[in-house]
Amino acid sequence: MRHEAITESELSAALERGEFLLHYQPQVDARTGRVAAVEALLRWRHPRRGLVSPAAFIPAAEESGLIVPIGDWVLRAACRQTRRWRDAGLPPARMAVNLSARQFSDVLLARRVADALAESGLSPADLELEITESMMARDPDAAARVVRSLRAAGVRVMIDDFGTGYSSLASLKRFPVDGLKLDRAFVRHLPFDRHDASISRAVVALCRDLELDLVAEGVETEDQRAFLTALGCGLLQGYLTGAPQPPELIPDLLEPPRVAA
Ligand code: C2E
Ligand code: MG
Ligand code: MG
Repeated sequence: MRHEAITESELSAALERGEFLLHYQPQVDARTGRVAAVEALLRWRHPRRGLVSPAAFIPAAEESGLIVPIGDWVLRAACRQTRRWRDAGLPPARMAVNLSARQFSDVLLARRVADALAESGLSPADLELEITESMMARDPDAAARVVRSLRAAGVRVMIDDFGTGYSSLASLKRFPVDGLKLDRAFVRHLPFDRHDASISRAVVALCRDLELDLVAEGVETEDQRAFLTALGCGLLQGYLTGAPQPPELIPDLLEPPRVAA
């Protein structure tokens, strides 16, 4: 099939028809193997194209501004799903939601977040918002205010894809976030690439000193897991510990292994 450009009207129709859905990827405690959080990852079940990945439509959604209502749907749907897992008696795991630049600069963000939490009866600490360095670079003062207000409300804020944007270190000083997600680019060639090994070692040390949580993204191999765990990286996310998957497969990951009596 031809890959025609995705239009604004297609995206708004998709939202109206309920064609968006979320997959969830576990973030696993490197030491205990427990699922500490799951990240909500947006998918579009397109009537002709099949399951479309976010890279294919988020830029168009961002450009048209439709990412704001779509992102709001994501936030609410992720919170509702968290509530369902809680109600089913599953061990709690935080819900991580990606924010786009437009959402991050939306004056109604704090209100939307509060509404999504209230609607599903979650506490702010159950929710983690992922932002990127580039969102903070645009208007650092305004961005710092947004991060502070979210955290004052008790919501966690993480810097996604850390190390790939601008002003990584300055941003840490300016934005009191809860933690970083080390971009997959630095994980991919571990433990063999000397530069990536040294970068990840430095980021682990930085997070330890600044008391920030650290999630390594894109962990695919046992060697990567062993290396990052030995360094002291707290959380691992990647195909090795669980690919993004539909919500019905998550309960098995949240439930700790049963010990035979
Ligand atoms: P991200 O937030 O950095 O999410 C991680 C991406 O890495 C996901 O791609 C995930 O499927 C992929 N991934 C996870 N583990 C591995 C691994 O071991 N190896 C490899 N090669 N890849 C892995 P996905 O789901 O295609 O999402 C891509 C990006 O789209 C996300 O990157 C995020 O920036 C954006 N995105 C996803 N959902 C949303 C959303 O609801 N709102 C917004 N604004 N952006 C979203
Ligand atoms: Mg993310
Ligand atoms: Mg990332």
